[in-house]
Amino acid sequence: MNTSHPKTALITGASRGIGRATAEAFAAAGYHLILTCSHSLPDLEILAEQLRTQYGLSCRAFQADAGDPSDMARLFETIDDLDVLVNNAGISHIGLLADMTVKQWRRVLAVNLDSCFYTCRAAVPLMLKKHSGRIINVSSAWGARGASMEVAYSASKGGVNAFTRALAKELAPSNIQVNAVACGAIDTDMNSSLSAEDLDALKAEIPADRLGSPREAAQLILQVAQAPGYLTGQIITLDGGWY
Ligand code: NAD
Repeated sequence: MNTSHPKTALITGASRGIGRATAEAFAAAGYHLILTCSHSLPDLEILAEQLRTQYGLSCRAFQADAGDPSDMARLFETIDDLDVLVNNAGISHIGLLADMTVKQWRRVLAVNLDSCFYTCRAAVPLMLKKHSGRIINVSSAWGARGASMEVAYSASKGGVNAFTRALAKELAPSNIQVNAVACGAIDTDMNSSLSAEDLDALKAEIPADRLGSPREAAQLILQVAQAPGYLTGQIITLDGGWY
């Protein structure tokens, strides 16, 4: 672990899947961590304790609904220093658009897109103070392509892509880089509702002939956090050559 200049990273939705793997990758790279979840605080506290013990870093678990502005404000009241923000928390919704309720639509947009506004609005002043910072939004290949039965999800991730490009332009003069990692199909609970047949059909479409692992997504997120500062405003796709 590099103890000379430990940096602090906030990762939303870190109790499982890509967020959890990202927490593990950043911990191994020597970052202090602030991890959030919406419901699974006991699980997240166990992870935080493991990472503290294994890597000797500061790692804090915080329960906060990423789609709730007051929860996010409560979280940022506890943060006075931040180098990296990973907006990972996200939910999917599979179904016909015509069957979707207003409440379901708003929830997908709130958790996947509004959350980026809430965290970035609070994180940017902390990064401006240091004249440095990295923001990485976890997006989806559907944000650029669109997916049938996932219109709200696709729209939310398309919004994340545009948010990323626009905020990158706004913050580049202040040495704050904003990029997105747009995942294809990654093997997490988000895809656990797929039947074995659906999974086989999905793999058949992917040139790499498999789903990506959360660890691979985490490695790329860490690499983007450590990339040269000239990399900004990019939507970097991780999809096994799918598109
Ligand atoms: P997951 O369902 O395994 O994990 C999602 C995480 O987000 C969990 O820790 C969950 O607790 C948290 N979360 C959900 N709603 C939250 C909320 N309101 N507030 C705070 N935390 C919340 O899914 P995953 O596959 O690890 O997804 C992580 C990110 O990757 C999401 O943004 C998702 O859209 C994106 N993504 C995933 C895939 C994939 O195939 N798995 C593909 C493209 C993009």
